[in-house]
Amino acid sequence: MIAADAELAEALRAGQRRALAKAITLVESTRPQDRPRADALLAALAPHTGKAVRLGISGVPGVGKSTFIEALGLHLIGRGHRLAVLAVDPSSQRTGGSILGDKTRMERLAREPAAFIRPSPSGGSLGGVASRTRESLLLCEAAGYDVVLVETVGVGQSETAVAGMVDCFLLLQLPNAGDELQALKKGVVELADLIVINKADSNPQAAALAKSQFEVALHLLKPASPNWSVPVLTCSALRHQGIAEVWDAVRRFHSTLSASGELAAKRARQAVSWLWTLIDEALLDGFRHHPAVAAALDGLTQQVTAGEITPAAACRRLLELYRPAT
Ligand code: GDP
Repeated sequence: MIAADAELAEALRAGQRRALAKAITLVESTRPQDRPRADALLAALAPHTGKAVRLGISGVPGVGKSTFIEALGLHLIGRGHRLAVLAVDPSSQRTGGSILGDKTRMERLAREPAAFIRPSPSGGSLGGVASRTRESLLLCEAAGYDVVLVETVGVGQSETAVAGMVDCFLLLQLPNAGDELQALKKGVVELADLIVINKADSNPQAAALAKSQFEVALHLLKPASPNWSVPVLTCSALRHQGIAEVWDAVRRFHSTLSASGELAAKRARQAVSWLWTLIDEALLDGFRHHPAVAAALDGLTQQVTAGEITPAAACRRLLELYRPAT
């Protein structure tokens, strides 16, 4: 590791926010020459990672994620925790203002010295964005943040990516019937370790109904852990009601799964699955950029489009170009 990065690691460990921000910028960099530096930094800091509660938070736009994160964050800081907020939003373009993790969305929390908020890495594939967020999560742990929240929008595959990097996945829902059934259809509920119906203040009856509908629906699902049945809670992020109960449930989840050994097993599974994601991406990247493959790809794609060649035959041809028979 170069001297400047050793100093960076030390400043990060000492809890200097600027050092953490700089380290995250380094792991997010897409410049090839930065990767070995990022890898060395992560390796040096690895012994200091793993101690945070990693909490994923998802829900459709407008459900109240940033309001909820601010309320939960202020609650946690009040209890002496240090909190980092990261985001996974593959559609985000930093220049255009990212949708998630934006500082202006959580103004009070952003002003707290014990909170660190970082917008989603911008652009790129979901895999790339998720991979950089995972690394940032480790950096936050090394910097002493004992709770790391990872926020994502409740649409598409980003939820699966976030569920794959956190200990506990919290799904925020609106208190109107119909929405929850949609979530069930999407299979997102199966990812949830905790379901929280927000905006209970706006319509307490609807929130209570949604809660019981979820409880019924959850009974039909096979529980992910024999030691944990997914609780359904209600809260008002706006009025800071029910937030302490949500945190209690997260802590209960964490201590239950730690005690049974399931948390360590889950993190180990996540690490192996991350390994395979990286392998997939690296191989695909190598394939796409292979000179012979790159030269033939457009032509073969057109032939597939025109029905002149089957996708399977085109694939075989490309693989032969990539890896000529010996
Ligand atoms: P996000 O898009 O999921 O991040 O949602 P926001 O946190 O930006 O909230 C969307 C809107 O819902 C804002 O106008 C919030 O003030 C409002 N909101 C958030 N939480 C609550 C709540 O608990 N009760 C009520 N009545 N409104 C809320």
